[in-house]
Amino acid sequence: MNSPKIMSKATKFSIRINPFLHGFSDWSVAMTDDDDPLFSFSLAPVVPSEDGGIRVGTMHHDVFLVRDSFFAIRGDAANALKFFETFGPWRVEKKFANSAEPVSLSAVVAQVAFYEEALLADSTDDVYRRYNFAQMADFLKDFTLRQPLEMELLFTQPLSGRIVCKDVEHAVLVSVFLERLDGLPLRRCAREGCEAVFKLTSKHDKRYCTVACAHLQSVRDYNDRKKKAQRKRKQATQQKLKEKSDPPRKRNQPKGRRLKHGSL
Ligand SMILES: [Zn+2]
Repeated sequence: MNSPKIMSKATKFSIRINPFLHGFSDWSVAMTDDDDPLFSFSLAPVVPSEDGGIRVGTMHHDVFLVRDSFFAIRGDAANALKFFETFGPWRVEKKFANSAEPVSLSAVVAQVAFYEEALLADSTDDVYRRYNFAQMADFLKDFTLRQPLEMELLFTQPLSGRIVCKDVEHAVLVSVFLERLDGLPLRRCAREGCEAVFKLTSKHDKRYCTVACAHLQSVRDYNDRKKKAQRKRKQATQQKLKEKSDPPRKRNQPKGRRLKHGSL
């Protein structure tokens, strides 16, 4: 009797993954007026409608959009406020929780740096090594990058997977996880003032995230070169003028003015 073929080992699937942030959309965000502003979150109370039902606003955002917008905060309080108003709290306890812990701008900046590093590091091990104990303890609390990625496998044809993220932190983590799984290398844009993290999609070693950045940098380089040349010309002209008005001292200058080595 032939043994039945069981799909156990060496069965390869290719699946389409749909990762998104899903939660309430009615968050109001308050920001304190400090050097390091604190963002706190509250949900508008749910009021039953006339027909007795309730209407709750929900949001649905692609995790890569969440991450790009999160990276674009760049330490700016106004950007952070706009971000949280759009995407909701940094962290909630569980899916569709109705309360959230506040988060400070400095914590946001640290998280952006951490996840950018997680994308750029050669391996996630490096990410662990570069952080000190306090940061690591905080980091290990929820195992971040080492936790298995929870995905719902949907019984569809073709096969597909769904990752539902409960908050911004979860969405950013999932985007980093999937990006690394994709295997394509990432770079930081070489234009000063941009420094965005971007993906290398071809073998060509790009230095700038966009054509716009490459153009801005080439204009800046051209202007720098021009300024440098102008400075050099100016210095040369000044030197010539100086030489004209103050010719170099002749050899037969009065003795005793200059101390010669060994003359003391
Ligand atoms: Zn750029």
